[in-house]
Amino acid sequence: MYDLLLKGGTVLDPSQGINGPADVAVADGRIALVAPSIPETEAGRVIDVSGKVVAPGLIDVHAHVYQPKRNPVHPDAAGVWGGVTTLADAGGPGPANFPEFCEVVFPQAHTRVYSFLSVFHDRSNPMAQSEEDIDVQGVVRTAQAHPDVIKGVKCLVYPRTVQTLGLKHVQAAKTAAREAGLRVMMHIGDIGPKSQVPTPPEVVADALGMLGEGDIVTHIFTPLTGAALDFEGRLLPELREAQERGVTLDPSYGDFNFGWDRAQEVMSQGVYPDTIGTDIDIQPGFGMRKNLMRGLLEYSAYFLHLGFSLEDVIRKTTVNAAKALGIEDSAGSLAPGRDADVSVLEVRDGSFQLVDADGETRMASQAILPHLTIKYGKVIQEGEAPHRWGWGPPTPAELEAVAGDGDDD
Ligand SMILES: [Zn+2]
Repeated sequence: MYDLLLKGGTVLDPSQGINGPADVAVADGRIALVAPSIPETEAGRVIDVSGKVVAPGLIDVHAHVYQPKRNPVHPDAAGVWGGVTTLADAGGPGPANFPEFCEVVFPQAHTRVYSFLSVFHDRSNPMAQSEEDIDVQGVVRTAQAHPDVIKGVKCLVYPRTVQTLGLKHVQAAKTAAREAGLRVMMHIGDIGPKSQVPTPPEVVADALGMLGEGDIVTHIFTPLTGAALDFEGRLLPELREAQERGVTLDPSYGDFNFGWDRAQEVMSQGVYPDTIGTDIDIQPGFGMRKNLMRGLLEYSAYFLHLGFSLEDVIRKTTVNAAKALGIEDSAGSLAPGRDADVSVLEVRDGSFQLVDADGETRMASQAILPHLTIKYGKVIQEGEAPHRWGWGPPTPAELEAVAGDGDDD
């Protein structure tokens, strides 16, 4: 007897090459069976998902659900409420903040939350990025004590760090990650004041050259300087070489790091993203709707519009993301025995506005919306959406409906 049966959907699981009509049965919090027709009488609860896409639980490799000494907003706002069953917080805590991270996040999260630890000791002062603030031994100790949570070490290549440290913090992150048997996630892109001196392409190239198989570069589609292209718009060959060595390339957006033109310039020079992270930030303390940025499914519409198939998008957000985090034995697949993490999705045709970091809008004809999310076999209640129109990108009518009433959705 199964606990739960998802009946009548289209199963899309790139990890197993499945793309077609099938039912999914869950027992004891694990995937029990995926088969063309499983009798309803064999399950305690049956949910009709006809017309929907049934995918492995989606994984966001780059999210922010914690900032030191800030009041928490529910981490599931970046997770299961919007179809994401697993996420990695990218550098919220350093070793000094990790206990608080655990206290803030784990008692409330239904979403599985992993951590990339910052290479800097204490993130409660985000300006503390000098050489004395680097804490390799603290990172190693903390990571070794919490292997179930910590999956890597985060470092940022941008003017503030490069001008004071060169690439010492990247080397430190790499040293710590290797000692702990983990991966580096390296930010590229010159966030900060527009007046600052851009990071020279040679420095970005050197930083990319330091990464090895399993490491992650995030923000490959950022229109900012100090990233994938040099000042003449040529792709840094080191980015392609990194991918060829097995470095994961991630296009997380956040507030500043997606440009339509940039994405197409990078791809036209032969480099494509492996994953789709969001860099979503639930910005504790200010009320969710004001600050929650694009969720994973809203951002996925951008990739459909760039020409990726639905299967490509699901591959990048399931099996590829699971491999990037080193969790492919438990997540990213509907293979029997895996955690029963399932994202039931609605693919909706319509007219949707997709805006990039420079304000350029493209109209898309398709969006993916969360319909139902299952985490460890439990059906999750939907939570508050980031926008008043829900979880997807807005239609023109939806934007018009909220315009002019003071809410900056
Ligand atoms: Zn980030």
